[in-house]
Amino acid sequence: MNATANLVEIFSAIQGEGIYVGERQIFLRLGGCDLRCRFCDSAHTWQPPPQGRVELTPGVRDFQKITNPVTGAQILAWLQRQFQGGKHQAISITGGEPLLQADFLAEFLPQLKKQISLPIYLETGGHRPQEFAQVLPWLDIIAMDYKLPSVSGENYHSEHGEFLRLAVQAGVEIFVKIILDRHTQVEELTKALAMMQGIDPQVLVILQPVTPRPTSPAPTPAQVLTWQTLAQDYLQRVRVIPQTHPLLGQL
Ligand code: SF4
Repeated sequence: MNATANLVEIFSAIQGEGIYVGERQIFLRLGGCDLRCRFCDSAHTWQPPPQGRVELTPGVRDFQKITNPVTGAQILAWLQRQFQGGKHQAISITGGEPLLQADFLAEFLPQLKKQISLPIYLETGGHRPQEFAQVLPWLDIIAMDYKLPSVSGENYHSEHGEFLRLAVQAGVEIFVKIILDRHTQVEELTKALAMMQGIDPQVLVILQPVTPRPTSPAPTPAQVLTWQTLAQDYLQRVRVIPQTHPLLGQL
């Protein structure tokens, strides 16, 4: 393994979003993001940091600072240490946008799969299909976003479609998370749902009411009910799940 990565942190925590909410996972957070979502709660990951941090004991937050970039062998050793106790249900690769480091992941993930017998779970903005194709063979679960322009300020409709199509063709487990706030434009949501229906009407969609921020007010309960009903006109599997880690005061 020669490729290196920019690491933000490695730690053990409770998955706070999506269909695996509540699972204990090892988080590998990589640095750098090419998007600037209005609701982002991870702005500290936008630029790859000169230093990252690694938790020494799972869940204890006894972090040790490390200097970037780091090697795949170093990351593997830190993940092994988290894995020792056998309490985790997946390794979550997150960011930032982890697919910005696809060259590293394409080299690293085959080694990770050989060494640690946990499902590999990718959390991604879902807007980089080319990089996704590089790492897809080593992924077990994909949590992709569809970014509504009225909510995120980003617009990647066709890239999201290409991304989802690749996953469906590969037969890998995927769900799509759509974040909703009070200013959600129904036309945009409808366009997203129609696109997903055309690719796979069975795709699981999570409508995630935004964790409120000054720039992103929460949707009203009536809006959420209306949008779930709308989504069910297009797709067979739709759930509403908010973020839970802020409620728990978790990282
Ligand atoms: S893709 Fe994720 S990390 Fe990047 S700006 Fe959006 S929410 Fe933040």
